Amino acid sequence: MHLSILVLASTLVAAPQQIKTEIRGSIEASLVRSHRDAGQALAAQVARLLGWEGDVVRQVHPKDSLKLLFEPGAEPQLLALAYRGQKIEMQAFRFSGYDDVPRFFDAQGKMIEPFLKNNPVPKYVQITEVPQRGRGKRFHNGLDLKAPTGTPIVAPYDGKISRVNWRKRYNGNCVDVIFHKKGTHALFLHLDKIAPGIKAGQRIKAGAPIGTVGSTGRSGAPHLHYELRDKRGRVLNPLDYHGTKPLTLSQDKMKAYQQVVQRYQKLLR
Ligand SMILES: [Zn+2]
Repeated sequence: MHLSILVLASTLVAAPQQIKTEIRGSIEASLVRSHRDAGQALAAQVARLLGWEGDVVRQVHPKDSLKLLFEPGAEPQLLALAYRGQKIEMQAFRFSGYDDVPRFFDAQGKMIEPFLKNNPVPKYVQITEVPQRGRGKRFHNGLDLKAPTGTPIVAPYDGKISRVNWRKRYNGNCVDVIFHKKGTHALFLHLDKIAPGIKAGQRIKAGAPIGTVGSTGRSGAPHLHYELRDKRGRVLNPLDYHGTKPLTLSQDKMKAYQQVVQRYQKLLR
């Protein structure tokens, strides 16, 4: 009796809800029109995924169709989406069976976003912003890696610590590492904690702890702002500097994944 109640309670998550919408205006406007409560939070998650397929400002067209599933709550979580448009076609499904981190894959089991090589946050959840500037775009110099507070940050390459905790009001707890490779500066901002022994002048090996993800300084939510600059201070794109690799689920994970896909596809119909 007690056991069955316990089992029931532990499996009791809010049932997924569905939104079907035809694009009119932006993704955000279309979603908010269809679902006033969750639309805005989901729009950001949808735009991030579609952004890997194309320019979400220019390639999203009126009459494109968007269906999605989400877990309702204070912070609605996207579970699956199907986008059929003039320029963009995408199906994406959330799956945690790869490395216990919820990630989005296409129907064939290929991760939607590219996986950064030598990642400073191996257990990051999602790339939430890339370096960008220019018309209509938010000015941003780094790569933002979303992860829960306390997620370990490691040195991607061998280097030497150059500065710790400068401009703390904006940067929060922060570390500046000079990589031996080309003398590139890597800035790690908004850390929750800095690892013991991280002091200016110390050498650091690739893979050694730098600290943990947090939201200190000017930051809205836990993430690592990871910024690369060359010797002359010019901003580099970590996606190019590190390189990326496609990540595909292995055969033994595909069985569990396909069950998730089938369940979500049925609910999306
Ligand atoms: Zn940032």
